[in-house]
Amino acid sequence: MQPFTYERVDTTTAAIAAFGQATPASASASQYLAGGTTLIDLMKLDVMRPQTLVDINALDRTALGRIEATGQGLRLGALAHMSEVADHPLITRDYPMIAQSLQLAASPQIRNMATLGGNVLQRTRCPYFRDVSYANCNKRIPGSGCAALDGFHRSHAVLGVSDACIATYPGDFGQALIALDGTVELTGPNGNRTIAFGTLHRTPAGNPEIETVLLPGEIITGFAIPAAPWLRRSLYLKIRDRQSYEFALASAAIALDLGDDQIVREARIALGGVATVPWRAKSAESALKGQQLNEQIVNVAADAAFADAMPRQHNRFKVALGKRTLVRALLQAATMEL
Ligand code: FAD
Ligand code: SF4
Repeated sequence: MQPFTYERVDTTTAAIAAFGQATPASASASQYLAGGTTLIDLMKLDVMRPQTLVDINALDRTALGRIEATGQGLRLGALAHMSEVADHPLITRDYPMIAQSLQLAASPQIRNMATLGGNVLQRTRCPYFRDVSYANCNKRIPGSGCAALDGFHRSHAVLGVSDACIATYPGDFGQALIALDGTVELTGPNGNRTIAFGTLHRTPAGNPEIETVLLPGEIITGFAIPAAPWLRRSLYLKIRDRQSYEFALASAAIALDLGDDQIVREARIALGGVATVPWRAKSAESALKGQQLNEQIVNVAADAAFADAMPRQHNRFKVALGKRTLVRALLQAATMEL
């Protein structure tokens, strides 16, 4: 780990000032420190080498840590811990997909430390990215190639891939946010802005090292999920090599608004473990809309979701697994008692 400067701040203005005048090219010179459960790991591995750490844990938690549900929907402060949100009775009741996406992630200890803001910005678990002894990783060393293409890529993505990078987006909560049309609130050197969560992450085409549309110094302050009739009939199904403390091989975030005779008024679907970014499956949503939900139509939707998949030798199984995960999640959501 290289030496770095540590600064603890208690206002967002001070945080942005401490972050400094980074340009996109030197953006990694400073990093905000939240729970540290991703960042410190990557610093110990020498994968991330920030010169300045700006600790944002002393920012006003009444604003940045707040969990607030109103008739308009849900607002979650970016410094709220994963465990606080996962175990919040209102969220487990009214937003089950969100609660489950967080409950099924990492371990209780990590969930107690980790924040929502840090969660959505966690970096890939691609072993070639996390091990600096590999010289070829476009995400770590732009232009160096991709060791995973000809290496072992069982855990890698089949959707949203490019010849430059096939690394999987590892998070779970991001799938819930994208499925539910969540937004992200940001504050930075140029002021405040709100963007659709679906536009936060960039697929790896072109520059895999640039993973989000965040401007240098921008802080995520919160997330909002609009009220909608499909929120209660929602769930997150995660399939992994072992039942706890493991990243997804495939996952599905599902929300359904069903009418009489199980006719699908609206479906919201996102996929995890199989794509380079949180992945909204709009073609699967369209395949379901207006149809009676049954085994045949959910299989049509699953085929639509993976129509553009580009599997390679070791991750070919993810297409079949991803489809089965989606089918199971949809059938399970349809039978939920509200
Ligand atoms: P930090 O490590 O502090 O920060 C992560 C990044 O986000 C840094 O670049 C930091 O600068 C930036 N950042 C943090 N907060 C902000 C902000 N508010 N504004 C702007 N930038 C910010 N996650 C899952 O989803 N599912 C899993 O199954 C899972 N399993 C895990 C297993 C292990 C063993 C480990 C170590 C982690 C696992 N995780 C999993 C990842 C874990 O959820 C993340 O490490 C955690 O959510 C990151 O949050 P943090 O607050 O610790 O972020
Ligand atoms: Fe690096 Fe992406 Fe290739 Fe992994 S898949 S080695 S992160 S370029």
